[in-house]
Amino acid sequence: MRLVILGGPGSGKGTQLQRLSKALNLPGISVGEILREAIAKNNFLGVKAKSYVESGELVPDEMMIQLIRLRLLQDDTRKGWLLEGYPRTPFQVEELEFLLEDFKQDLYGAIYLKLDEAIEIERSLSRGRPDDTPAIVQRRIQGFTERTTPILEYYARRGKLIVINAEKAQATVEAEILRKLKS
Ligand code: AMP
Repeated sequence: MRLVILGGPGSGKGTQLQRLSKALNLPGISVGEILREAIAKNNFLGVKAKSYVESGELVPDEMMIQLIRLRLLQDDTRKGWLLEGYPRTPFQVEELEFLLEDFKQDLYGAIYLKLDEAIEIERSLSRGRPDDTPAIVQRRIQGFTERTTPILEYYARRGKLIVINAEKAQATVEAEILRKLKS
């Protein structure tokens, strides 16, 4: 099963990625995590991505496309994967479609963790990560809403959007996702 997890900052994407990865026994791929790790290691990707991640801007598409292609070619992805943080723009949606076509694979669905903007801000600020300052959080949320609306519409049109109320407790959100995947 191949799933993408969509949601604004602070919507619990990372948490649900870990939980679902265990529950479904599939690799959970967090693009933000891969980028932050690369920056910490100061490797080729990290050096290139650093200034974007640290200012809350999107990393350029060419870099992201390569990163995703390489990651989805790794051995652990054969039975499927859970992808969080990608696609984030309509362009990336298209690129993911091309990639899956190329791999002769199918996306099962897009899980959307729906949350009020005020709660997104509050939750993001309480994480205390270096790239979670109020200005950066605000910019990410604005960008998220602008860019994500067409993505949600795209998956909804294809009958692939699974909308989840992300305000509930983590275990409840997870149970709700698993229930909807089975139905
Ligand atoms: P996240 O942890 O998902 O909020 O991602 C942290 C940062 O990584 C973002 O603010 C962007 O700079 C970068 N990033 C994550 N995912 C993407 C993506 N799909 N496209 C471009 N940049 C991304």
